Amino acid sequence: MKRPFVTKEQLEELTQQFPTPFHLYDENGIRQTARKLKAAFAWNPGFREYFAVKATPNPAILKILQEEGCGTDCSSLTELMLADRCGFSGQEIMFSSNDTPAEDFKLAHKLGAIINLDDFTHIDFLKETIGTIPETISCRFNPGGVFTLGESAEGFQVMDTPGDSKYGFTREQLFEGFKKLKAMGAKRFGIHAFLASNTLSNEYYPTLAGILFRLAVELERETGCDICFINLSGGVGIPYKPDQPANDIAAIGEGVRKQFEEILVPAGMGDVALCTELGRFLLGPNGCLVTKVLHFKHTYKEYVGVDACAANLMRPAMYGAYHHITVAGKEDAPCDHKYDVTGGLCENNDKFAVDRMLPEVELGDLLVIHDTGAHGFSMGYNYNGKLRSAEVLLQSDGTARLIRRAETPEDYFATLTFEE
Ligand SMILES: *Cc1c(COP(=O)(O)O)cnc(C)c1O
Repeated sequence: MKRPFVTKEQLEELTQQFPTPFHLYDENGIRQTARKLKAAFAWNPGFREYFAVKATPNPAILKILQEEGCGTDCSSLTELMLADRCGFSGQEIMFSSNDTPAEDFKLAHKLGAIINLDDFTHIDFLKETIGTIPETISCRFNPGGVFTLGESAEGFQVMDTPGDSKYGFTREQLFEGFKKLKAMGAKRFGIHAFLASNTLSNEYYPTLAGILFRLAVELERETGCDICFINLSGGVGIPYKPDQPANDIAAIGEGVRKQFEEILVPAGMGDVALCTELGRFLLGPNGCLVTKVLHFKHTYKEYVGVDACAANLMRPAMYGAYHHITVAGKEDAPCDHKYDVTGGLCENNDKFAVDRMLPEVELGDLLVIHDTGAHGFSMGYNYNGKLRSAEVLLQSDGTARLIRRAETPEDYFATLTFEE
């Protein structure tokens, strides 16, 4: 069973101050998750989590994570600017982007960020753009093919297809690329790979670590490059559905340690630092979208119309993703009514839930759409002239703080160029 991190009473107080819909974040939960992650990898002295900014690009959130010892993983010019303005600098910033514009590389270099190259051709592009190759450099690896984990009667626990993904260097390109970068002046090397998204398995990171650790040993032997860090990237998932088991980050950390001791330590590479770039795992469950019931519609189905729409949370419309929904104050009531929960976009996929069993819903009820703390607000858009919502932080002392105001029509019109 999934319970929201706020009560009906808290929500009623909040909605007096902040009109719905809004995204709400739980500072306590964020800090606890960050601490668990840090503890799970405390055995690796150089370990650092670089929070994937794209998941939740809000300064207040980034500040909390900074206090917990995290860096930032940026992938665009504005994400770099955001990290800079929040006080992250130098090697506290990882720049993992692809199809990268020149200006982005320039700013990443100026900030002293660790640049993680996505492609072999970016080596020359980077050199031409910034006039040099940084002494510390990283490359993203793509092994191709299909990546699977844990086969059972129901299929694979994890399955993804790196061979169809646009990211990263092939194995051959990686060996060539490291030699080339070394010849151009690079001294400290890192490798990175992201092979599967939202994994619910304690084996994903250890398996990925095994692949990258073996690769690192071969790369160092063959190219003579000094591999200083290995970046396990994102991909540790969260249980969006109530019956799914959560990952155990302590077990994940131990699993990676075993690979480290089996592969890197005997190769004399026990000083390699590990990095992660988690977004969803850190923030996903620590945010929710709060929305109010505006309308009922009884046609061929029973519809509950709310004041949020896919422009506030795109995942259900885009991926058919499941987000659990609870009705404030009715958390323990029997789910004996079947509804489609919809937003108001002129798109039939604007449904937060289809054929969902919920308690009987009444006009004015507050719905909590769970696990929207990552890739929620940040994927928002303005289709149909819908405006982005506010973001509110439920602070550790129990008070709430507005950390981003809602857009107004003035924001919507601000970029237009009227002919006067
Ligand atoms: C999106 C992304 C992440 C974060 O992924 P999660 O699924 O949120 O953990 C990390 N690194 C890179 C390069 C990404 O693109």
